Amino acid sequence: MKRIGILTSGGDAPGMNAAVRAVVRKAIYDGLEVYGINYGFAGLVAGDIRRLDIADVGDKIQRGGTFLYSARYPDFEFEEGQLKGIEQLKKFGIEGLVVIGGDGSYHGAMRLTEHGYPTVGIPGTIDNDIPGTDFTIGFDTAINTVLESLDRIRDTATSHVRTFVIEVMGRNAGDIALWSGVAGGADEIIIPEHNFDIAEVARKIQEGRDRGKKHCLIVLAEGVMGGNEFAEKLSEYGNFHVRVSILGHVIRGGAPSARDRVLASKFGSYAVELLEQNRGGLCIGVVGGKVVAAEIIDTLENHKHQPDLSLYELNQEISY
Ligand code: ATP
Repeated sequence: MKRIGILTSGGDAPGMNAAVRAVVRKAIYDGLEVYGINYGFAGLVAGDIRRLDIADVGDKIQRGGTFLYSARYPDFEFEEGQLKGIEQLKKFGIEGLVVIGGDGSYHGAMRLTEHGYPTVGIPGTIDNDIPGTDFTIGFDTAINTVLESLDRIRDTATSHVRTFVIEVMGRNAGDIALWSGVAGGADEIIIPEHNFDIAEVARKIQEGRDRGKKHCLIVLAEGVMGGNEFAEKLSEYGNFHVRVSILGHVIRGGAPSARDRVLASKFGSYAVELLEQNRGGLCIGVVGGKVVAAEIIDTLENHKHQPDLSLYELNQEISY
């Protein structure tokens, strides 16, 4: 393989740039050419493609977001779009593709694989909700961003003896809430993967108050319900001076953490190695600290992401 392509797709995540940089630098180091595709699958179908040189990825490792831009492009779910995409790749002489993105992007990569086009997936999403890897690029940065907010909110919660509901991203996965909640000493973590009893939450808050506890932090994954709705329900059980903080897209941005940059660099380099060996149809991950590759079709069809629920139990035991 002499010429490879790369795109970022779905929600942007800090560290995507570091991954693109690693792909470009490793490929050029090994004597390959790299082409960057703007705006994910939308740009692929439109032919928004350009050569990337060493300097094009300079000064990018520390930047959040993705300099290749990203897009939601539902048309790629249809065969017509997928075949058009492959046609564009062939037109540019690109023999293999690296797709960096979340679950949806992986499905796009899987479709290309099914059409026989060599594609390698790199997990890039703040949600950490992709099967085949313990961690995705962007997750570490995102939980540290939430943690910084939790520490700040704790100051004001304590000063005014308030309960805070902090809504964090996570439509289907509670990983962000779980990890940031444990790190931030949250009193309660509410996630889609675990049931909860709001009366019990209220009872615990009251118990803390009775002991003289000043602050109370509840970290809520958005997929369960909105922060305001949760606060309203909680208020039915007593006056806990509830305030709501919705962190939203703040969680997405910012410079990637060292851990995310290192992970991105390892994933990017490995993706190039796989394509050099003509091994497409794979997705990369880190499992038990080791960088691995698995069949993308099998990973998506037979495996499901599960958050580390032992963190939930741990939090029950040490935060009240
Ligand atoms: P995040 O989880 O961070 O939002 P994502 O990659 O899951 O990222 P999506 O918007 O779900 O984000 O998917 C990104 C793009 O991947 C879609 O806009 C579409 O172009 C493509 N895609 C999604 N699902 C499929 C599918 N079933 N088949 C082909 N392509 C798909």
